[in-house]
Amino acid sequence: MTSHRRVFALTGAGCSTASGIPDYRDDQGEWRRRPPVMIQAFRMQDEVYRRYWARAYVGWPRLVGAVPNAAHHAFAAWQSAGTLLQLVTQNVDGLHQRAGSSSVVDLHGRLDVVVCLGCGARTSRSALQDVIAGQNPGWRAEATTAPDGDADIDASTIESFTPPRCAACVGMVKPDVVFFGENVPGERYECARAALANADALLVAGSSLMVYSGFRFVRLAHDAGLPIAIVNRGRTRGDDFAGLKIEGDVGSALTDAVAAIV
Ligand SMILES: [Zn+2]
Repeated sequence: MTSHRRVFALTGAGCSTASGIPDYRDDQGEWRRRPPVMIQAFRMQDEVYRRYWARAYVGWPRLVGAVPNAAHHAFAAWQSAGTLLQLVTQNVDGLHQRAGSSSVVDLHGRLDVVVCLGCGARTSRSALQDVIAGQNPGWRAEATTAPDGDADIDASTIESFTPPRCAACVGMVKPDVVFFGENVPGERYECARAALANADALLVAGSSLMVYSGFRFVRLAHDAGLPIAIVNRGRTRGDDFAGLKIEGDVGSALTDAVAAIV
């Protein structure tokens, strides 16, 4: 970070764990809990749609209440220093932006926007939360929160939940995030790839890189001969490509590094 002037940074779940948003995967890159919902099941199976929205409804207040941590603040400070060329995140929580980072590429979208799978209408997730509450008077569930903002709830409670539908066309609605089984929109990927083409180094922070949409930036950087550094607690799919691997907490490592350049 002190010797490169145009760094491309890719962040993942490990940046947001200190904000109380748990990681999908353990330090061996394996699922910590059940795998997240697949887009095909979400579209085709009523019970999957219902369960997704019941859990998302319960998990939303905790997600909204999450605040940026040291990792997010370090990236914002680094961007102000001028040597962070592009920040790309796999996270869908918007915490980089809330810490003050701008021009962030949200590779996997944002949870705070909802899109209709029928007519394409886009609405605010916060507004939808109120609509869901109105359609489910008295419905309550206790739960813990997962990375995509959903939560664990028992089956009988889910059965009594009415999931939301599009106000315009009664179509299925979905947070504007890339579900497992979906691709990153081409335009968004191109924007990130173009930035990488102008970068002089790649830093990966808090990602196991098990998802190809993130890993492919490591492959591209490697093919272009760029130096690659990874900060992560645990093994990553990119370790063999990295000239520098820091095993540990993203927040403390990045805070120290940024302090050396600002
Ligand atoms: Zn619609």
